[in-house]
Amino acid sequence: MPGITDDLVQYVPGVDHARSNHLQSCSTPFRYRQILHLALDSSPGTWPDLCQSGKRQSPIDILTDHTLKVDLGSLKFIRYDYAYSGIVTNTGHNVQITLSGIPVYVTGGGLASMFILEQLHFHWDAEHTIDGVRDALELHFVHYDKKYGNLSNASHYQNGICVVAVLFKFADDDNSDLYNILNATESVSQWVGKSSVEMQRKVVPMLLLPKDRTTYYRYDGSLTTPGCQEAVTWFILTEKLPISESQVNILRNVKTNNGTLKHNFRPTQNQHNRIIYHHLLGYTSTAVMQKEILPFFNFIYVFIIIVYPHLFITS
Ligand SMILES: [Zn+2]
Repeated sequence: MPGITDDLVQYVPGVDHARSNHLQSCSTPFRYRQILHLALDSSPGTWPDLCQSGKRQSPIDILTDHTLKVDLGSLKFIRYDYAYSGIVTNTGHNVQITLSGIPVYVTGGGLASMFILEQLHFHWDAEHTIDGVRDALELHFVHYDKKYGNLSNASHYQNGICVVAVLFKFADDDNSDLYNILNATESVSQWVGKSSVEMQRKVVPMLLLPKDRTTYYRYDGSLTTPGCQEAVTWFILTEKLPISESQVNILRNVKTNNGTLKHNFRPTQNQHNRIIYHHLLGYTSTAVMQKEILPFFNFIYVFIIIVYPHLFITS
């Protein structure tokens, strides 16, 4: 996630933008953009700067037994249920969907602000793994904090970007909600280099989210492409959507300047003692006490009644 290197005209090598409170100027932005594009074409292990030295990099393997269960509040998807026209782009590094029309937002989930949807894109195979299991596909809904004005600017702030990730698992049948996007993808998949096509039908973003949005994992991380800015609040929805192998193969056949893009996921990164929250609606420590401790006290109570019945007999 996400393909914003085209816009990183103000990125300064060596500066920790995630902790910078204001924009920096850059004397050689175009040259650095070229470096980032070259980096994307190379192995992720050779990506420069924060990609190597960062301490809150993404993606990660989510170990479910080591998450902190908590109620962070529901994510609110605003105008996700409207229908939007849009274009599908073969960026040479992923397939990106850009919608047109009135802004689409996400808020809630402990976010301090409103985050505007900038674009959606796919990773095949999935980038985040759950207990070591890698799924077929991961869809990223990339948002930026409204107060920063655009995605490039927001990428310079510690939590300027919010990405909602949806995992897809293999299924026997096609996912019909992906037909529109994948048909457009086939139109641009053989074009070498950056190319776009308008989708034939409108897209309803809500249909690309699972029905159950009441549980998710949340953690602080980074972009998963160079320069790996540590600016992202990640939400990985727990429920997965289905996709058929033939549908994933449409993405695996996307052509680039360097041949076929068989996959485009970054390997998982070190967690570095970050807390991974597991949001469960209505979850409280009191509920845990009642669930785990009350049965013990019930047992003791019954035991005393059986062994010392006279204590409960009154004349
Ligand atoms: Zn992504």
